[in-house]
Amino acid sequence: MSNIRFEALKNAFSHEIPNPNEVNERAKDYFAQDVFTREKMKEYISEEVLEQLFDDVDNGRTIHRDIASVVAIGIRKWAIEHGATHFTHWFQPLTGGTAEKHDAFFTLKDGALLEEFSGDSLYQQEPDASSFPNGGIRNTFEARGYSAWDPSSPVFLKGDTLCIPTVFVAYTGEALDYKTPLIRSTASLCHAAREVCAYFDKQVKHVHVNLGWEQEYFLVDEALYNARPDLMLTGRTLMGHDSAKNQQLEDHYFGAIPARVLAFMQELEYEALKAGIPVRTRHNEVAPNQFEMAPIFEEVNLANDHNLLVMSIMDRVAAKHHFRVLLHEKPYAGVNGSGKHCNWSMQTNTGINLLAPGKNPYQNLQFVTFLVNVLMAVQRHNGLLKASIVSATNEHRLGANEAPPAIISVFLGKQISEVLDKLEHASAEEAIIINAKKEMKLGVANIPEILLDNTDRNRTSPFAFTGNRFEFRAVGSSANCGAAMLALNAAVAEQLMLFKAEVDARIEKGEAKERVLFEIIKRYIVECKTIRFDGNGYSDEWKKEAEKRGLDCETSVPLIIDRYLSPETIKMFGTTAVLSEAELHSRTEVKWETYSKKLQIESRVMGDLVVNHVLPAAKRYQTMLLQNVLAVKQVFSADETESLNEMDYSIIKQIENHSGAIHKAVERMTEARHKANRMPDERSKAVAYHDTVLPLMAEIRSHADALEMIVDDELWTLPKYRELLFIH
Ligand code: ADP
Ligand code: MG
Repeated sequence: MSNIRFEALKNAFSHEIPNPNEVNERAKDYFAQDVFTREKMKEYISEEVLEQLFDDVDNGRTIHRDIASVVAIGIRKWAIEHGATHFTHWFQPLTGGTAEKHDAFFTLKDGALLEEFSGDSLYQQEPDASSFPNGGIRNTFEARGYSAWDPSSPVFLKGDTLCIPTVFVAYTGEALDYKTPLIRSTASLCHAAREVCAYFDKQVKHVHVNLGWEQEYFLVDEALYNARPDLMLTGRTLMGHDSAKNQQLEDHYFGAIPARVLAFMQELEYEALKAGIPVRTRHNEVAPNQFEMAPIFEEVNLANDHNLLVMSIMDRVAAKHHFRVLLHEKPYAGVNGSGKHCNWSMQTNTGINLLAPGKNPYQNLQFVTFLVNVLMAVQRHNGLLKASIVSATNEHRLGANEAPPAIISVFLGKQISEVLDKLEHASAEEAIIINAKKEMKLGVANIPEILLDNTDRNRTSPFAFTGNRFEFRAVGSSANCGAAMLALNAAVAEQLMLFKAEVDARIEKGEAKERVLFEIIKRYIVECKTIRFDGNGYSDEWKKEAEKRGLDCETSVPLIIDRYLSPETIKMFGTTAVLSEAELHSRTEVKWETYSKKLQIESRVMGDLVVNHVLPAAKRYQTMLLQNVLAVKQVFSADETESLNEMDYSIIKQIENHSGAIHKAVERMTEARHKANRMPDERSKAVAYHDTVLPLMAEIRSHADALEMIVDDELWTLPKYRELLFIH
């Protein structure tokens, strides 16, 4: 009888390393080759139209249909010249990932095919995507969902298809995607930040928000992947005993990249660069077969599009190299999971990074102002920020010992902490000395240059200041970063608005601007202390301390999702015009529904694995042992038999115990699932899955993993951890 695991192993070892790409050009020559960049637009579209288009885009105004029609002609020409036959509106539904529905470029006219692509096709479409989750916003009789062009992200080619980045909204205007609220939140933050910048520098006309993501992922050989139903159907292993060696020696991290993996990365980078994604960094991550890729940061909306695009390019390129890429946050228990650190900052049109210490006291006061306002925002909305990163998949990473704790806190590092401590205890006269020339001095030790080296790191912090930006480290590897970024943008926008209102009120009463700014900052420094934590975020002491401080310590994902509906959240998203209450309700419905569905699938796969793989293998081995026991009895005397069979007896009993326990737990799990499914609403269903199904899966796993260590290796049909983690 053949064993699927050994077949898979044979296949895995027989892959040849594909020849490295025959790319003779330099990256700068093929960078953005597949993108209709502003530079290229000049060749296809008149100067006058472009001027209008760029002006509208840069100032966040709606594009007029007449302009869209002219732009569409240019886009079609460029796309067809470059081999495109189809076009699609490319959008980001709440399921995660991206969605596309391709249409050919032609229409039928008098019985003949006519190549066409109108302004309307560019501008707006109704993809009839009525099966996407909408959390009740779209009843079937009014189930119109529209995708509408986002001109701030350039169109690009993917194979034979022109992709047009779009938002996805309901007929009634509510957002059904991540892009819409992300764009709204960025606009809100840009506006609020610019107003605050005006206290320091009147030249600032525009502020933009930057995102630099770091995508972690695992690679696994495709043959082994195909032999693991759990990886195929859920993206993670639902069972598997620890490999004797995994990451203890930390010999994989930053190690030499294995040849076959390097070939994959080279092709991935080539494809990403052609798509205009400025990928720059690649390295081995902590766990075996875990890797990371990161680009140079870009404007947040574009960066997020690029991240989603990279995730799909990864899938495609991996398949070519006989790998599968695992974007799941926790594909393997016992080794590190994967995150997507989101490096976030704000920058002015004058080139000043608002989160970088400045060159003069004015800039430093500006820096401290923005820094402290971010702290205030994160403090007020720490529960929501956690909600923005949770999911059924990231749940396994959250609070585990190699990942962000389930409590949001901010790491500032020694130097910045000292600066804030000094400011807190300084008087306005000490801190701000305004001399005859109206120059201002910030009377705290100059903020040290060394900060820019950001050597001070804390891997246990979910939200860390890293010299000139914040790094939101809790975001999951499979997530759309938009969810986290829009919550952060909106929270900071609200905070800056509150700050400005207070400052303006006091200036109006005749107080001096510098003094007002300083005094409010000083008060904020005291108020936001509860969110600051530079210690070990994994420790139990921190959990106790955080609870005392009143930070959100909830660990159950379905309950964390409630934070989207708290009065503070609804108010915050309302004043920043990012999400309405109806939109928040629809989003939470989708989140609970997705959560339950993922657990339902996992639990079914688990049942299948134990009943059809684990138990049969265990039974077969047990039968072999029983036959041996009988044979011993026939050959040896009764006295000798006892001791000769001692070990077999023990194993037979262990197998019986574990198998029996699995059998009963599977029955209870099925019952728990049925009960959960009968819950009257999505929230209680998700809670039931979390509270009753998840623990049973853990129980079943522990017995299955124990059996894996007992049963003859030759009989075990599921590829083992050592094989999944070390073959490449
Ligand atoms: P790490 O040590 O965390 O790996 P890197 O230098 O590799 O840091 O940068 C990680 C990401 O942070 C990259 O995408 C980089 O472009 C981005 N980044 C750097 N500076 C900023 C900034 N000011 N704002 C936003 N992202 C930034
Ligand atoms: Mg990093």
